[in-house]
Amino acid sequence: MKSIASELAYFLRGRARQNLKLLLTYCAFLIGLILIYATIFRVLMLHLEGREFTMIAGIYWTITVMTTLGFGDITFHTDLGYIFATLVTVSGVIFLLIILPFGMVSLFIAPWIEDRLRHAHRRDLPEDTSGHVVVFGVDPVTQSFMRRLKARHIPFVAVTGDLQQAQLLAEETGFKVVYGSPTEPKILDGLRIAAARQVIANLSDPENTNICLAVRARCNTPVTAIVDDPEHVGLMRLAGASQTIPLKKILGNYLATRSTTCGVQAHVLDTFGALLIAEIAVHGTPFVGQTLAQAQIRQRTGLAVIGIWNRGRFSLPQAETILDDKDLMLLAGTRQQLDAMEELTGEQPAEDLVFILGHGRIGCAAAHFLDKRPVPFILVDREINPNCEDHIPVIGDATTPQILRQLRVNEARGVIITTNDDSTNVFLTLNSRHLNPNIRIVARANHEENVEQLYSAGADFVVSNASVGASILSNAIERKETIFLTEGIGIFLRPLPPGLDGKTILESRLRPQTGCSIVAMIPNERGHIIVSPAPETTLTTKMDLLFIGTPAQEETFDRLYPRPASS
Ligand code: ADP
Ligand code: ZN
Repeated sequence: MKSIASELAYFLRGRARQNLKLLLTYCAFLIGLILIYATIFRVLMLHLEGREFTMIAGIYWTITVMTTLGFGDITFHTDLGYIFATLVTVSGVIFLLIILPFGMVSLFIAPWIEDRLRHAHRRDLPEDTSGHVVVFGVDPVTQSFMRRLKARHIPFVAVTGDLQQAQLLAEETGFKVVYGSPTEPKILDGLRIAAARQVIANLSDPENTNICLAVRARCNTPVTAIVDDPEHVGLMRLAGASQTIPLKKILGNYLATRSTTCGVQAHVLDTFGALLIAEIAVHGTPFVGQTLAQAQIRQRTGLAVIGIWNRGRFSLPQAETILDDKDLMLLAGTRQQLDAMEELTGEQPAEDLVFILGHGRIGCAAAHFLDKRPVPFILVDREINPNCEDHIPVIGDATTPQILRQLRVNEARGVIITTNDDSTNVFLTLNSRHLNPNIRIVARANHEENVEQLYSAGADFVVSNASVGASILSNAIERKETIFLTEGIGIFLRPLPPGLDGKTILESRLRPQTGCSIVAMIPNERGHIIVSPAPETTLTTKMDLLFIGTPAQEETFDRLYPRPASS
């Protein structure tokens, strides 16, 4: 009963109320029309056929004719009568059978259904919801992030101002989705922001600033904001963001480091205290063609090679692994050890020239990165970037056949492909490979599902916006216990599980039981980091363990060795 009343109440609010007035006016018009026809009917019958009918009979005749029921019990027998009956039938079809139902559907039924759908996605979270992540703005980055949250059983809710997206997302992914604007106070209260673990703001910079202010006005829940323009970082902080991620700048830097080999330098991915996790290209180093055992990286620098990337594939290295020109090594070690490595790889006097295709924010960030090295580059874009005064691109469509040839892409060492359209990026990858078989191609993938296709087209390294963005966001909420290297592999830090104190790594059977390998032992107070500890190393509660493994292996670890609630 209550719900019927609330549905009826819908028609008495806002626009629906105005439409209701319109409907009542139309009904009054129809009643008037019927009364006029009934009167004319009576007059015609009396004067043309000498038959007298009551007003009730007139109304009855008019309605049966207008609705095209026409029982045929009262009919005219004169031409004028036929003409009048035809007029009544036609106007009945128009006013009763066409305009009335159409008006009902467009003014009432459709808005009512839409309102129902809106409400379906607007329900407040249950009172006892807490520890959840609230994600404003749904795009490939946050979708990938939410898939990770789901896999890790962390509760979350997505908020979007696009009703269609809300419906699709809820249907296709089963995510909890709320439809609404982040600036509506009701929405924020319903999301139970104060009890949330984290808020992620992934809308435009001004909208994100509003989210920060609105959350700050209510509670201290940390807000991580993805910032489009790095210049807005300060503003976002002022508005109350606890962390700002200039994602496009980060992506541009990622792409740029991988495109150049001029003075091989390691690129630090993340840190765990004093331990750095970094990547370094094999190209341009003296190690090309050697096995890992021959390269003696560990003996010469103290660094551990904990993984090898080859065209997007990650593998755990063996002594006999041959270091390919196109490989990237994943290293773990201290700053001094990395410096020793960079000394070894040295400033190679490589003559470099890099093409940057696309001068949006990502392309521009890549250009800034190369500017600092300095590595000469040529920018190509269809149009001038109004936000950049530092670079002068060659204006033209990079997909036209002549342009890359004319610019002599065959003489370049690297190309960074950064347009915002994946099919364009696949095409540009193919074309660059065709024009220059030896060029180092680094491509941006806007959607995770296109990564493989870019590799197949010939890219040497693909950076997926969604994966990188989701990894950074995951780190933000996981309090840096885990870093994601790629979709299938991660590095995570755990205290020594109880009961293993005093055992050696071999005796602990951690690897056979969980599948995870120990990358390093990090002292939780003072002491030295042990990178790639030998199997006979003794475990102690004074050292935290850094593992590398797949998310499934990490889960197995956490199941076998549950963490105390406080951590
Ligand atoms: P972001 O800011 O994420 O890098 P943008 O959409 O701003 O994304 O950048 C993509 C850039 O790529 C734009 O400046 C666009 O003009 C450029 N671009 C897209 N297609 C082509 C193309 N075929 N040739 C040259 N430039 C292109
Ligand atoms: Zn620029």
